Amino acid sequence: MSAPLRLVVTCLLAAAAAACAPAVDESAEFYVFGTLVEVRLSGAQPEQAEAIFATLQQEFQRMHRELHAWEPGELTRLNAALASGEAARTTAEIGTLIRRSKDYERASGGRFNPAIGKLVALWGFHTSDFPVTGPPPAEAAIRALRDARPSSLDLEVSGDTVISSNPAVQLDFGGIAKGYAIDFACDVIRASGIQDAIVNAGGDVRTLGDNRGKAWRIGVRDPSGGVAGGIEARDGLAVFTSGNYERFRQDADARYPHILDPRTGRPVQAVAAATVIARNGTTADAAATALVVAGPEDWPKVAEKMGIEAAMVIYADGRIHATPGMLEYFTPGEGREVIVTESAP
Ligand code: AMP
Ligand code: MG
Repeated sequence: MSAPLRLVVTCLLAAAAAACAPAVDESAEFYVFGTLVEVRLSGAQPEQAEAIFATLQQEFQRMHRELHAWEPGELTRLNAALASGEAARTTAEIGTLIRRSKDYERASGGRFNPAIGKLVALWGFHTSDFPVTGPPPAEAAIRALRDARPSSLDLEVSGDTVISSNPAVQLDFGGIAKGYAIDFACDVIRASGIQDAIVNAGGDVRTLGDNRGKAWRIGVRDPSGGVAGGIEARDGLAVFTSGNYERFRQDADARYPHILDPRTGRPVQAVAAATVIARNGTTADAAATALVVAGPEDWPKVAEKMGIEAAMVIYADGRIHATPGMLEYFTPGEGREVIVTESAP
């Protein structure tokens, strides 16, 4: 784990510890997959919040161990077995993530593909220290991994056993793990009887219920700095953004972002950021990554294929393009204009 797991419980309103203490806002912060996750519960009793936060601390820690793409754990063990062509037992959770990944890979036409872990590693992105510096990998090495065509569809999952028909497959759930972890947290919160909450992992958010009768408001960052606008969401909706501006390799005269096009083996540049609203975080996370890969021509079509009605992209020059469905939630910042896409043919 890159930073010690931290648990901070803050009462945002002064809560009396009396027998019938008023319900208050409670929040806690956790580190998972190198990201700070803030969980805010509205209208929870302190003891209830404490129990939820203790569960989340434990579960986030477990996921970090089991789903990490390069720190030795359950997933790296499975990857070693897949590379050698052996059938291997894995956790029910990893089985679920593989099954869902297959759906996203199919729907996105291969733009979302969690089997390209070897390519992600080749580009030097299996690290917590960004920016990575230095020249890109050798062209021949990129081509070899690309041409091996690793895909989640090469995996067969039966029960808790997985086998790969392609030794080039290396799973990297970096494109959906955060969404999955946030959904997990929301399930824990709901099961505890809390109706209103927000879980925010560095701007990737899932809402539950509302914020004292109003929608939760989520800022959309501008890739070139500042805020591009705001999204109002409630009732379980997830808002996820993928961008090429935070994590990248920096060479003397070029920048290589961390999202790769599995079909070229290379980083994608044209879309600086894609924001997606979906019914759950896992889908929103996978779709946001897929739309960055899809690029200016294809992103509305890929969004539709993935069942996403509300999506927007921001280009390097600051232009904002959005689907008609996104306009129900998104308000651009002052002086910003939104170009609305036609419905996909
Ligand atoms: P995100 O920030 O959700 O867009 O996820 C980016 C992370 O997903 C990268 O750091 C890689 O670990 C992984 N990744 C990169 N390219 C892809 C892709 N085309 N499909 C799926 N995962 C990817
Ligand atoms: Mg993603």
